Amino acid sequence: MIYLNEEYKKQIEAHGERDYPHECCGLLIGRFDEDGRKVIVETFPLENAREAEARHNRTLILPEDVMRGERYARKKKLDVVGNYHSHPDCPAVPSQYDLDHALPVWSYIIVSVVEGKAAEMFSWEMENDRSKFNEEEIKKEEI
Ligand SMILES: [Zn+2]
Repeated sequence: MIYLNEEYKKQIEAHGERDYPHECCGLLIGRFDEDGRKVIVETFPLENAREAEARHNRTLILPEDVMRGERYARKKKLDVVGNYHSHPDCPAVPSQYDLDHALPVWSYIIVSVVEGKAAEMFSWEMENDRSKFNEEEIKKEEI
């Protein structure tokens, strides 16, 4: 389960709309609770580093971006708990490319952007054996 309040949800949607028709990407900064829940405390937008031709359907996060995010989170006594990206004119369902590049434990929030407008949003967690993603419930408020 992942907690994402309305404000951060809107930030992710706005980033997806801004970068349309390209994919946007960013890191999710927050904390892991004892029971495995994740709470998003901030979003950390990144530049999509893929070459221009591939940018509409592939995101690439550079190692230095991840380190920058980790350092930023650590300074605030938080963690990088996942990644978000957009799927322009595609459903918010992970691709094989997403699965091939996924990290365990991280949450992958995908927002579908249809004709420039943010649509459905889902969060995904990779199965431990890397065979697939499982949908993870997104909750608005931490209880
Ligand atoms: Zn994707």
